[in-house]
Amino acid sequence: MTDIIVIGAGISGLVCAQQLSQAGYSVLVIEKSRGLGGRVATRRLLEGSIVIDHGACYVKPKGEILTRLIELLCDNGVLQVWDGTFLEKSTSLPENAISIPSTSPAYIAPAGMSSMAKFLAKGLNITLNQRVTGINLTADKHWHLTLANDGSNNSPITAKAVVIAIPAPQALELLQPLERELLDLTFLEKLRSLEFFPSISVMAGYPVTSQPLPQWNAVTIKDDHMLAWIGLDSSKRLNPTQPVFVVQSSANFAQQHLETQDIQLVGKQILQAAADCTELGWLASPEWIQVHRWRYAFPRNPLTTSFLAVEGDSPLVACGDWCGGNLIPDALNSGIAAAAKINTQLQQRILPDTKFLEILF
Ligand SMILES: Cc1cc2nc3c(=O)[nH]c(=O)nc-3n(C[C@H](O)[C@H](O)[C@H](O)COP(=O)(O)OP(=O)(O)OC[C@H]3O[C@@H](n4cnc5c(N)ncnc54)[C@H](O)[C@@H]3O)c2cc1C
Repeated sequence: MTDIIVIGAGISGLVCAQQLSQAGYSVLVIEKSRGLGGRVATRRLLEGSIVIDHGACYVKPKGEILTRLIELLCDNGVLQVWDGTFLEKSTSLPENAISIPSTSPAYIAPAGMSSMAKFLAKGLNITLNQRVTGINLTADKHWHLTLANDGSNNSPITAKAVVIAIPAPQALELLQPLERELLDLTFLEKLRSLEFFPSISVMAGYPVTSQPLPQWNAVTIKDDHMLAWIGLDSSKRLNPTQPVFVVQSSANFAQQHLETQDIQLVGKQILQAAADCTELGWLASPEWIQVHRWRYAFPRNPLTTSFLAVEGDSPLVACGDWCGGNLIPDALNSGIAAAAKINTQLQQRILPDTKFLEILF
């Protein structure tokens, strides 16, 4: 029996778990993937010699806690400013017109963005490779979670409170069966109303001799039917072995191709479009290519509240970027708010709040 189970080891789940475990609760985080970070995702190829961020590409400071976290991660060599040129291209502008947006600094992790999550996970009790497949309430009003790993069911676990730190449509799948007995209609209606945009991320590596290299680090593309973002991912690395690009598709294009079987072919189409858009013809002929489908990439219509809670004797709170926004800062704020809510429903301990970071470093 644990005090609190947190489902999901993305930014919101990890921050929430830190707050609660530093306040003295017993907390267990359950994560379905092999790694930490959720959509703050890093892929490592060739025994780690190639590192690629195929989820969040960078983080920008917003709010006191994230600003402090970024500061501490910079001091510890985990994050640094992504120096260079960032372009914005709109199909509604005349051919080849490119505007340079004035932006606040973007921070990246040379070892991969998921190293942010590794820091936030310090000291936590986390079980990886376990998907929560069911939630039920026991007669003594404790939450009973069913887990599955590689298709085989494992023994269920029990907790006094549950935090669901996963995208809203996935939370709905888990909670829908409780509709009649436990959950009030407004809670489920809110979950049901939330939609996410999908995205397809293409990772591609090129020969070291590729020329000309771009004079920019990334291009954001507005209003294009196929492309949303093109980033020279290898410009984030300290000693890149070859030029590596990440290209993110538009939400509309991802919607059309999310279920396409030959996703490599879709990836090649995206690279061809990136080559045309940037006038770097060689982008269409990579040495290698990997494609990732994000079914739930960005919340389309986030809530205006920072969490969603079930009132009653058995605390259950849902959180994530979709509670208040669609980026890392929103996930972080939501995780902190969810911890505060669970705490008021349990033992009302003193939470570390902004101080939780100092303990990690
Ligand atoms: C392609 C892409 C690019 C992005 N770029 C940026 C960017 O540049 N800057 C920025 O700030 N943000 C960016 N974002 C958004 C950012 O990644 C998210 O806002 C943030 O990571 C969301 O965190 P979260 O904790 O709410 O959810 P998630 O990161 O989705 O975490 C949820 C976790 O729960 C796990 N999970 C789900 N279901 C279960 C289950 N049943 N059992 C156990 N575990 C489960 C998942 O595996 C995942 O690890 C990007 C996102 C994408 C997809």
